[in-house]
Amino acid sequence: MDFGSITTAVGSLKAAGELAKGLIGLKSDAEVQAKAIELNQKIIDAQHQIFAANAAQTSLLERIRDMEAEIAHMNDWGTQKQRYKLAAPFSGCMVYALQKSMSDGETPHYLCTTCFHKGQPTILQGRETHGPGRSTAVYYCPTCKSEAKTQWSNVTAPQYFEDIKQG
Ligand SMILES: [Zn+2]
Repeated sequence: MDFGSITTAVGSLKAAGELAKGLIGLKSDAEVQAKAIELNQKIIDAQHQIFAANAAQTSLLERIRDMEAEIAHMNDWGTQKQRYKLAAPFSGCMVYALQKSMSDGETPHYLCTTCFHKGQPTILQGRETHGPGRSTAVYYCPTCKSEAKTQWSNVTAPQYFEDIKQG
């Protein structure tokens, strides 16, 4: 935090106070006017410094709010991730599969392992690619764009972790 601007603001206000005290002893109008201008400048300086300190505090509060939201998200994900287990539904490709016992009625689905470890659960989407003479079913991640080929030609529905035959 920029405590510097507060210290400077206090300094400017102190100087303004001294100037105001000095005004009382002055004889001519010209002297009073000169001092009044100086005093006005000191007050403006102090205001600027207070605004700067205020802006610094606002941005700090925003950062705290963002970090609190991030912590809440991480805590929530910490609970959510317990519902999935690493599985290999197609040879050579790992996914995180939803466990039937933890599904809470949710349909079976697979999560991308890369995004899972980043705390960004992303459901893998099935798609068929059509090559010459044959098609291949792939699962791809819409977030990190990683892709896993299955040994099948058609996309099959994802299964719960418990139903996947572990090779
Ligand atoms: Zn991904």
